Amino acid sequence: MPNSPIILAGKAVAEAVKEGLKDRIATLNQHGIIPGLTVILVGEDPGSQSYVRSKERQSGKLGFKSEVIRLAAETSEAEVLALVEQLNQDESIHGILVQLPLPKHIDSQKVIETISSSKDVDGFHPVSMGKLVLGLEGFVPCTPAGIVEMIKYYGIETRGKHLVVIGRSNIVGKPMANLMLQKSEHANCTVTLCHTATPDMSLYTKMADILVVAAGVPQYVGPDMVKEGAVVIDVGINRIEDPETEKGYRIVGDVDYEAVVAKTSAITPVPGGVGLMTVAMLLSNTVKSAENSLK
Ligand code: NAD
Repeated sequence: MPNSPIILAGKAVAEAVKEGLKDRIATLNQHGIIPGLTVILVGEDPGSQSYVRSKERQSGKLGFKSEVIRLAAETSEAEVLALVEQLNQDESIHGILVQLPLPKHIDSQKVIETISSSKDVDGFHPVSMGKLVLGLEGFVPCTPAGIVEMIKYYGIETRGKHLVVIGRSNIVGKPMANLMLQKSEHANCTVTLCHTATPDMSLYTKMADILVVAAGVPQYVGPDMVKEGAVVIDVGINRIEDPETEKGYRIVGDVDYEAVVAKTSAITPVPGGVGLMTVAMLLSNTVKSAENSLK
């Protein structure tokens, strides 16, 4: 009889990360520094509004100086860039985050590149990404950084393991693959990155000791794509219609959890898995930035 899989619960790990920040924040306070995080939200996207509320609530709880600047959807690109420039100059702000997606008339890449790389707590700036690829100290994008924290917390062996990532986005897939190939603790994997042009996806996924799925396709990965005993990390957050629920929808991942769970040695649920890590890592990056300002 195989062992039952470990359910990798994001809540416990996120709480541990936030608990670990408290002493560091107290030390900063002793030096007269309060970690400052400013979030810019342009428009009314309901998903973004709820993410931003969670960022505001959690950073407030840790005693951050936290501010959300809400701008109308028709705000011009020039106005957003000018605001970012102004925040770059403000010494009381250690982290600047522009909530994505931005309205179509604003060039997201231009905005990301205008954020000072020393305040890039989302880790999306080319300087942050370059450091990540080179294995240098810098801001790591929050979702992949959160997955590494989960791997650490649950003691998942990574050295020499074959890690397969599905998805090549700049915010999840690419940084995840680059993090896990580094010659460092909790990484040192052989990495394969699959995407929309990958033929015969299951050929690769069935070789994975650790499978990270970030495709944005509801319940894409079924049991026939997973090796017996694999660790499965599901990044997907997708709304699917469900008339049985009060809201008329429910949240599912990119993995067909019920069908796959028995085949795994460990798996993240959705909701309750990776999704809970992202804000915790944002707070962690902001504390790191505040510490850098002391140096
Ligand atoms: P994205 O749409 O930017 O990228 C998805 C990637 O998957 C693309 O590179 C695409 O090539 C690849 N892909 C899409 N369909 C595929 C298929 N059928 N086969 C192979 N590859 C395919 O998405 P993203 O921003 O990386 O997010 C991925 C998922 O993770 C989404 O469901 C998103 O909501 C979720 N997400 C969760 C968190 C979190 O906090 N847990 C954070 C970011 C994103």
